[in-house]
Amino acid sequence: MLNKPPYRKANTIEELAENLATIQARIALACERVGRDKQSVRLLPVTKTVDEERLRMAYQLGCTTMGENKVQEALAKYEAMQDLAIKWSIIGHLQTNKIKYVARFADEFQALDSLKVAEQLNERLRQHNRTLDVLIQVNTSGEESKYGLVPQEVATFIEKLAPFKQLNVKGLMTLALFSADQQKVRDCFILLRQLRDSLRDNLPEGMSLEELSMGMSGDFEIAIEEGATIVRIGQAIFGARNIPDWHYWPENNTHL
Ligand SMILES: *Cc1c(COP(=O)(O)O)cnc(C)c1O
Repeated sequence: MLNKPPYRKANTIEELAENLATIQARIALACERVGRDKQSVRLLPVTKTVDEERLRMAYQLGCTTMGENKVQEALAKYEAMQDLAIKWSIIGHLQTNKIKYVARFADEFQALDSLKVAEQLNERLRQHNRTLDVLIQVNTSGEESKYGLVPQEVATFIEKLAPFKQLNVKGLMTLALFSADQQKVRDCFILLRQLRDSLRDNLPEGMSLEELSMGMSGDFEIAIEEGATIVRIGQAIFGARNIPDWHYWPENNTHL
C-alpha cells in the first residue's frame, strides 16, 4: 500500500489516485501520532518533470495547486493549461531574470532568500496590480550547497521586507539535510519551527509566519510530527524522476 522508494510511476489516473490516497493516509497517520488535525497540513504536489497529460489527471483528482522548481518549466505548463484553474507555487531559487514571469503568473513563491529579489518582485507585482504569497527559505542544514538564509539572518530580513506591500509573507520553508540519520533530518525541522516560534510575536504588520513548508517524499512524516503545515511531495505521488535533482538544486547535491 505504501508508495515508498523506489517510487512506482503512476501512469494512469487510477494509479495516481492510489498514490494520492496513500499519501493522504500517511499524512493523517502522522498527524494522529502528534495530536494534530490532518486539515492543518496542505499537500503541495510537486510536478517538476511530470508531463501535461499526467498533470491533467492530477487536476481531475483535486490537485489544483502545483509546485514547480524552475520558472521556465512552470511557465510552459501554465501556458499549456490555461483552460484549468491551476495555481502555481514556485518552490525553487529564483534568478533575477525570471522575476518578471513569476510576477505574472505565480500564486506563491516559497524560496525567498534575497532582498534584491524581494524588491524587484514587489515592483513587478505592483505593475501587474498583483500580490504574491511568499515563504522565506531558511538553510537549516548548514550545508553550503543549499540556498536559503542562515537562521540568524531571518529576523533582520523580515524587517526589511516590511515596505514590500505586494508580498504577503506567510511563513518559512526549508529543505532538510539529506541523510539516513533521521534524527539529523528531524533537527532541521525542529530548527525551523523554533525559529518561527521565536519570531512570530514580533512581526511587522500584515505578516504571518503560520506556514512551515517542510518535508518531501522521503521525510514528510517527520516534518509533520515537527509542525509542517505544507509538505512538498513529488516522487511519492508521480513516481521516481529520471532527471537527477542536481539539475534543480545547487551543485554538490548528488545524494539522490
Ligand atoms: C523536487 C522538490 C521537492 C519534492 O521532492 P520529492 O522527492 O519529489 O518529493 C520538494 N521541494 C523542493 C524545493 C523540490 O525541488
